[in-house]
Amino acid sequence: MNEKQLIARMVQEINKDVESDVVIMEICGTHTQSIAKYGIWEIISHRIKLVSGPGCPVCVTDKRYIDMAISLSQKEDMIIATFGDLMKVTGTESCLSEEKSKGKDIRIVYSPIQSIELAKEYPNKKVVFLAVGFETTAPLIGKMVMKAKKENINNLFFLTSLKLMKPILKEILKDKNQCIDGIICPGHVAVIKGADYFSFISDDNNIKTVVSGFEPIDIISGIYFIVQQCKGKIHNHDKNLYKRCVKEKGNETACKILEEVFVHEDGNWRGIGIIPDSAMVINKKYEKFDAKKVFSFSDLPKVIEDNCICKDILLGKEIPTSCRFFGNKCTPQHPVGPCMVSSEGTCGIYYRYRKEG
Ligand code: SF4
Repeated sequence: MNEKQLIARMVQEINKDVESDVVIMEICGTHTQSIAKYGIWEIISHRIKLVSGPGCPVCVTDKRYIDMAISLSQKEDMIIATFGDLMKVTGTESCLSEEKSKGKDIRIVYSPIQSIELAKEYPNKKVVFLAVGFETTAPLIGKMVMKAKKENINNLFFLTSLKLMKPILKEILKDKNQCIDGIICPGHVAVIKGADYFSFISDDNNIKTVVSGFEPIDIISGIYFIVQQCKGKIHNHDKNLYKRCVKEKGNETACKILEEVFVHEDGNWRGIGIIPDSAMVINKKYEKFDAKKVFSFSDLPKVIEDNCICKDILLGKEIPTSCRFFGNKCTPQHPVGPCMVSSEGTCGIYYRYRKEG
């Protein structure tokens, strides 16, 4: 049986005998993107509800963080280095894209390594890298912090908004009004932290769990194993469906970097609020590279929260088409909320692939 035939076979089995709704959350924006791109919404039964979770790093970056980045961009001799996705995310009064158009030195980079190169190229300027992401990107950022220390680079700083998946998932699962039957866990987080990192979902909550890759066959396999368990047709299967990349205990080297550079503290998730121990922040040993410790932020505006349902989208309680702004006032060209900005944001994905209802 080739891959195409295998997918067709699994879809047939998934769609057979679905007698009640099965709600499956894919936590990660990359999964949502693949589901939309490969038309998975269209080929599975309407009784299988795929809802998105909080795994788009840009979407959960709070306004205060953007305000801080903008404030830094206004200082003398400052270069801000950022991933492109962050440019249009609104702070309280502006966004990085708008500040760049006003002449601020804000540069799009594709890897944290480029922030080291910038710092070396401009020794008389200060370079601040906007370190946003989850467990997936944090090890490389941590490595750059270590490199900056080792090479005694004194003009490079990191403004962190690095978040952890486990605490936010625990928060979602605490909500007894949330009916989730299964969760597709992000393969790339599991590459770093290991498949066991997500064991608590099924162990503590009786929710079917799979760790999945990002190809159509990976996602369909994930849906298949969850749905078949819900129907009682499969018991005790191996939850790690991404064995070609994910070990049970993860990547030891990457985990050591996380331990070396970061500590955990309460994190502010946009629209959602403070989640205990959900942020990775630079520890004392490396604090001279922590932009939050080095610079003063006394001039920040008072935060006004977004006037939209992004929070409910991020928690899998609503879908984008339920938002009154979707597709009219809020589009990727003129985003109202953060979920419309990033290529991994659920609203942006719905807009591009137009899933109705
Ligand atoms: Fe927020 Fe726009 Fe999505 Fe509505 S459509 S929830 S305003 S991002």
